[in-house]
Amino acid sequence: MTIDWVGLDADDTLWHNESYFITSYELFAEIVAPYLAPTDDPYQAAHDLLIATEIRNIPQFGYGIKGATLSMIECALEISHRTIPAEDVWRLVERAKEMMAHPVELLDGALDALDALACHRLMLVTKGDVMDQRRKIEHSGIAERFDAIEIVHEKDPQTYAAALDRHGVDPRRFVMVGNSLRSDIHPVLALGGWGIHVPYETTWAIEHAEAPEDHPRFRVARSITEAAELIAGSGSIAAAAD
Ligand SMILES: [Mg+2]
Repeated sequence: MTIDWVGLDADDTLWHNESYFITSYELFAEIVAPYLAPTDDPYQAAHDLLIATEIRNIPQFGYGIKGATLSMIECALEISHRTIPAEDVWRLVERAKEMMAHPVELLDGALDALDALACHRLMLVTKGDVMDQRRKIEHSGIAERFDAIEIVHEKDPQTYAAALDRHGVDPRRFVMVGNSLRSDIHPVLALGGWGIHVPYETTWAIEHAEAPEDHPRFRVARSITEAAELIAGSGSIAAAAD
């Protein structure tokens, strides 16, 4: 078995993303802390309430900065019994605009990894707010390196199957590289494809999932560079499974 197509996640796989959200979560925690019962860890208490709100809202708001910000405003209004000052709502909205204007910062090794993978066909598979994902792709400077770019609302087996089908890709000859076990790995393994998990420094709570145990088509790499080596180098992932 050989790999024809390599799928790459974008947020926290090719460029930094979650680290910007953490500063927004810190602002949110600072705003709501006065309304919460005293605790040793006000950040965690605020974060837990916010994550519950985000999970509830994803079917309506989807992923991304705008949905996260609406969830922060809603959650702050709930926690404060709708007494939060307008000034604090303003700060959250301003923070969202800052995030949506933030330059794209590629992860170390991302460009070299794309060079190393150039002999394969490459598909960028990213989920989130279409406008913001498009902006980041355009500003990343790497869009032309991909044979296909898919921006999807959810990364589940159905959306992967549809994306692979659109480009005539056999899932058995497709490997997906990404930082999220839930979104990048499990759905692709379920379709018969390969998955290489490259953990980012932090994982959004909603993306948490257990790693598959002893799965023949699952690998873990410490960096995007190592993932590219697994695919392109002598330690081919297919050979390793034989
Ligand atoms: Mg990601």
